[in-house]
Amino acid sequence: MYDFVVVGAGFFGAVFAHEVQKAGKRVLVIEKRDHIGGNCYSYDDPETNINIHKYGPHIFHTPDKKIWDYMNSFADFNHYQHRVLTNAGGRIYSMPINLATINQFYNLTLTPGEAGEFLKSKIPAIPTPANLEEKAISLIGPELYETFIKGYTIKQWDCDPGDLPAEVITRLPVRTSYDNIYYNDHYQGMPIGGYMPIFTKLLEGVSLELKTDFFEKRDYWRSLARTIVYTGPIDRYFDYRYGKLRWRSVRFEIEKMSLEDYQGVSIMNYADQQVPYTRILEPKHFYRESINLSRGTVVIREYPCDDPDEPYYPVNLKADQAILSEYQKAQSQEKNVVFGGRLAEYKYYDMYQVISSALKQVEKLREMI
Ligand SMILES: Cc1cc2nc3c(=O)[nH]c(=O)nc-3n(C[C@H](O)[C@H](O)[C@H](O)COP(=O)(O)OP(=O)(O)OC[C@H]3O[C@@H](n4cnc5c(N)ncnc54)[C@H](O)[C@@H]3O)c2cc1C
Repeated sequence: MYDFVVVGAGFFGAVFAHEVQKAGKRVLVIEKRDHIGGNCYSYDDPETNINIHKYGPHIFHTPDKKIWDYMNSFADFNHYQHRVLTNAGGRIYSMPINLATINQFYNLTLTPGEAGEFLKSKIPAIPTPANLEEKAISLIGPELYETFIKGYTIKQWDCDPGDLPAEVITRLPVRTSYDNIYYNDHYQGMPIGGYMPIFTKLLEGVSLELKTDFFEKRDYWRSLARTIVYTGPIDRYFDYRYGKLRWRSVRFEIEKMSLEDYQGVSIMNYADQQVPYTRILEPKHFYRESINLSRGTVVIREYPCDDPDEPYYPVNLKADQAILSEYQKAQSQEKNVVFGGRLAEYKYYDMYQVISSALKQVEKLREMI
């Protein structure tokens, strides 16, 4: 018998298992994939010696010192600071939109003070934006919207921005300085050696069964523990009884090259609609300190798609929110089950948020355990 059976070996499951084991509880983790790490799984490509993130690039960032210290107890981090460029109309711009982007786009030499006023003069009055397109235009004006947002959004969500609700974007970061560090978070970096050493340490001594789908023997797993910790998709848990929640996914196309450097940066966005991918990753740039140890390079093109087996980004339109609230009601009636993580909560969470949420969950249960 176990105190906990944890379904899923991503960050939520692994942190939860680590903490309850530390508190002296018996815990078993089951994972349907053939590896731990969830979507943060990364591996060293033997040919090039480059660490590849199988499910998309994962840059660690957090505003929370406690989470940063917690992660640093499992790995050393380098000093990577994320900067993104975007290819639009055959030119390369800095993202998110900042003073360099504005000056380059409009061929001007505005100061920070002038840029704010200049942008205001570009924005038409739209008192109540009715959709994503109108909302974006009300924030940055039609020219920047058409160049940087429209095509990318159509590719990402496979629909016209005029058909998406305005609430999808609450704000679009526009900086009137030359600050081009993508994340505002104080703490950021990439774990040396990738994410797997972290997961290996988190799950050290924890019973683990890979290639094991909870739903194939659901009653059996339930019979093994007082509490189930479920980190899979919420709609699947309830056998889709209120309908399927929609997700957007990504197909990755990997190419190895004998070149030293393909694009000079880890991520290049492609804003134009006619380019079928949204971005190209070149992961060797995440590890500047060991860049000379790699042989050639690897580039990964990202093609947004629908793939029910690989749910990545919650679509989260009104219809999804209505379905989700039914599942949340059902979940609150479920005894001895903890639901956590991005799939069970149908939320786009960054890693630090999932780690923080797992730690809080353990704290909540501490009296019981
Ligand atoms: C493309 C992409 C890029 C991202 N980039 C970043 C980034 O740069 N920085 C950042 O902070 N965050 C990023 N994220 C978010 C990050 O991936 C998540 O915050 C984190 O992985 C969530 O952890 P989790 O444990 O909730 O879910 P997951 O990592 O998905 O783990 C859930 C696990 O449960 C398993 N599972 C599901 N159902 C079952 C079942 N029935 N039986 C057994 N096992 C099951 C799954 O196989 C999976 O391994 C990105 C996400 C995506 C999609």
